[in-house]
This record gives sequence, C-alpha cells and structure tokens, in this order.
Amino acid sequence: MNMRIKPLIALINQQSTTVRHFSYKNILTWYSGLVRPKPTKPPHKHIIQVGDPCLRAISKPVPTKDIETEEVQKLIAYLKHVCRKYDCYGLSAPQVGVPLRIFIMGLTQKALDKHFTKKEIAAKALKAIEPLVVINPEMKVTDYTKVVLEESCESVKGFCADVPRYMSVELKGYDEDGHTFSMNASGFTARIIQHEMDHLDAKLYTDIMDKKTLYCPHWQVVNERCGKVELPYGPFK
Ligand SMILES: [Zn+2]
Repeated sequence: MNMRIKPLIALINQQSTTVRHFSYKNILTWYSGLVRPKPTKPPHKHIIQVGDPCLRAISKPVPTKDIETEEVQKLIAYLKHVCRKYDCYGLSAPQVGVPLRIFIMGLTQKALDKHFTKKEIAAKALKAIEPLVVINPEMKVTDYTKVVLEESCESVKGFCADVPRYMSVELKGYDEDGHTFSMNASGFTARIIQHEMDHLDAKLYTDIMDKKTLYCPHWQVVNERCGKVELPYGPFK
C-alpha cells in the first residue's frame, strides 16, 4: 500500500500547489477508508472470533413477550443469513455479537453430500438436520455415553479437534413464533445441540477438547501456497 501511495502524493504535489497540504497520513487514511469496510455493530453479518469478550459472556434469556418483536426477529434473520453465508450447520446469537439465548441449526442432505465424502459421513456419523430456531433452550442429557469425534467451530477459524459429547439429549425451548417445543436427539444432532448450548454458557469446544488433537486441516495448503491462504470458517474445504 505504501508503494502505491507515495507516487500518488508526489503526483498531486507536482500538479497542483493548492493541495500540497495533503500529508502522507491524510492520504493513507483516505485510501484505507476506500478499501476497509467500517466496523459494524451487533448483530454482525460475520462470525466473531475467539478472544471477543462476547464469546465468554453468559447469554441472557429472551423474555417470551419479546420473541415476536422486530428486534428478536431481525436477530433470527441475521443468524439465518450468516449461517447460509458461511455454510454453518449450527450458529448461536453470541457468535454474531449478541449475548441472548438463541441458536439455530440445520443441514440439508444436499449440503452434506456436497461438502463431505461418504467416508467422512460414515466416520463422523454425520446426517441431515431439520432446520430449527431455538429460543431459551433447556437441555437434558438422556444418554451419558461419551462419543469422541472431530469438531470445529466458526468462532475458532481454521482449526479442528477431537471433542467428547454425550450420546443423546432432550431439548426444550421456544421456536421463532413463540411456540414451545421439545425433541429428542442423538449422535450428530445431539453433538450440535451440546456445542450451541455451550456457546450460550460462554464455553467453547477448546475448553473440553483433547488438546493434543488440535490441528489445522488446511496445513498442507498453507505450505503449498507459501502461507498465502485464507483459512475457512468451518470444516468445509
Ligand atoms: Zn461454535
């Protein structure tokens, strides 16, 4: 950037005596403003990263009378938008910077087949998940058998690790229309629920992972491209 701006200032100063008060700093600020978007306020249209205090704040319940308000419905719309944008199958409100007890989940068979090989689907016991918005969720473990599988999180961009989760859970809460519901889930769906519940309680998978298994699944690409690579948010390649 510096290499581009210095000749620009020289050119301006050559061509007009009226603009010679332009300093390098002023031009740099102007140029940066052109290429860097202004920071947004929550809810964000991006996923915040580990280190952001919002990921370590206990989320507050949504007053049930507020579920149908514009504010809460807008937040749900943001979550759905960000989920689609980043190909997530689970996303919590704290991950877009709002510490409220809401998460969404869902994974179509089409997305599953697109992003994973049959071998991965079998090895990780992956399966399609019905789209669901959950407000003020309550979770009860119904099978305490621990299952260890590789897991990742869009808020810990570019990494994966083995994480133990309970086999089955019961989930209760409100849907986006304010109706109560309950469901039983096991395997992959139960894992997603536990992961998102942890977000609402200010926890990350890195708190309970097998530390020695933490790795960047894209490490070979990093070497192949001499480090010039943007790490993806999720597990998809
Ligand atoms: Zn996560």
